[in-house]
Amino acid sequence: MTARVLVVDDIAANVKLLEAKLSAEYFGVVTALNGADAIATCERGEADIVLLDVMMPGMNGFEVCRYLKGTPATAHIPVVMVTALDQPRDRLEGLDAGADDFLTKPLDDAALFARVRSLARLKEMTDELRGRAVASVRLGMADPLAAAAAETGLNGRILLVEDRPSVVERLQSALSAFHVVEVEKDAQQAAQRAADGDFDSVIISLDLQDQDGLRLCSQLRSLERTRNISVLLMGEAEDRARILRGLDIGAHDFLLRPIDRNELLARVRTQVRRKRFTERLRDSVQSSMEMAVMDQLTGLHNRRFMTSRLAMMFDESALRARALSILLLDVDHFKAVNDSWGHDAGDEVLREFANRVRACTRGIDLVARMGGEEVVVVLPDTGRDAACQVAERIRERVESEPFAIQNDTRDIRVTVSVGVANRRAGDASSADIMKRADDALYRAKAGGRNRVIAASAA
Ligand code: GH3
Ligand code: MG
Ligand code: MG
Repeated sequence: MTARVLVVDDIAANVKLLEAKLSAEYFGVVTALNGADAIATCERGEADIVLLDVMMPGMNGFEVCRYLKGTPATAHIPVVMVTALDQPRDRLEGLDAGADDFLTKPLDDAALFARVRSLARLKEMTDELRGRAVASVRLGMADPLAAAAAETGLNGRILLVEDRPSVVERLQSALSAFHVVEVEKDAQQAAQRAADGDFDSVIISLDLQDQDGLRLCSQLRSLERTRNISVLLMGEAEDRARILRGLDIGAHDFLLRPIDRNELLARVRTQVRRKRFTERLRDSVQSSMEMAVMDQLTGLHNRRFMTSRLAMMFDESALRARALSILLLDVDHFKAVNDSWGHDAGDEVLREFANRVRACTRGIDLVARMGGEEVVVVLPDTGRDAACQVAERIRERVESEPFAIQNDTRDIRVTVSVGVANRRAGDASSADIMKRADDALYRAKAGGRNRVIAASAA
């Protein structure tokens, strides 16, 4: 995996050293000697990860970090603070400014590469999601990035996997002030609970009796249902090799014992933020994908989806010589509903009409709103006569019961006309069937409405 790492340090020699190390590991490197340049580089989208020196003249590292994390356009870029002194206060302030991690000078190569790699993985996924989320903004939905940047990272659901009672007590009392914490001693049970519960973060001890915390980590990262939960490892400083291995298999971060209360809180908070940030983007991608194929008013598929899906269904039925029928439905005198009762009442009728059509069709049938008060139903493996029965069922279901409008205060009679056509051997495409269904619908309207008319079968 390759990523562009921005190295920010006011001392040119430090920049050169890091640049050499990272280049040797095939990372791309950009550099900045002060905070303003660093911010400009990030805003131009030229950095995937920032390694940020704390002590710089002018804007210091904390200020740069706070700015990047508070700006929607750069909030998603992982920031690693590089502190000269091993000062718990510096770490805390950095994490509080929104830093995703920190490293202490002199830099330990293995820790540096492992950290940068794990953050590069995260960034790659986030970029993918951001790209797709742009579509939701274009469709007029709220900007998910601005919302994600405002995420506080508090009130998370945390699963603590630790079997030493004294440690459990200490961590739990620290975390419970800000999060909901559950404790599990058994790694196997923990995997189960993580899959069932809605956790933001799992904290795993690497010192469990007779159990391997790394195995749990790898399980969580590979299962679909737990893949997005952030994983924090806890281990002794001597356990460095296993911690690095853990980062390699996908743990997001680690804590060294003895665990500093503030550091714990800050890191967990960062993890919760990161998890929710990703989740929010995924949700917005999900709904923008749904918007692309669904009609918002009725919840039926939209015309665009119908067109591409129908072409596939046609090819399939032609290839296998199976039946395929289409119903074209059009509400009768719908304009009069709008004119007499208002546009909102018209919308209520359309929603209920869609429900009734859905109730009369099978899961494999494709039901889509073509626009206005026109709905199409595509029935795979269904010949003309069976299709006419479905059409008649819908027609009757619409006619038999009045439609409630104006929030159930009134009801009105509605009817529908239906044109039916099936695939014929000589048809070149679904457009041929659609044309015959349309002609049949026209005849149903001309014949007095509230009826089903079918085109001849062959
Ligand atoms: P016919 O029996 O010949 O089908 O007559 P009709 O009035 O149903 O057909 P026409 O095509 O003249 O009118 C359709 C009306 O549907 C006109 C349009 O304003 C209305 N319409 C289209 N989309 C919507 C919508 O989303 N909501 C509402 N309330 N009305 C809509
Ligand atoms: Mg109509
Ligand atoms: Mg119409």
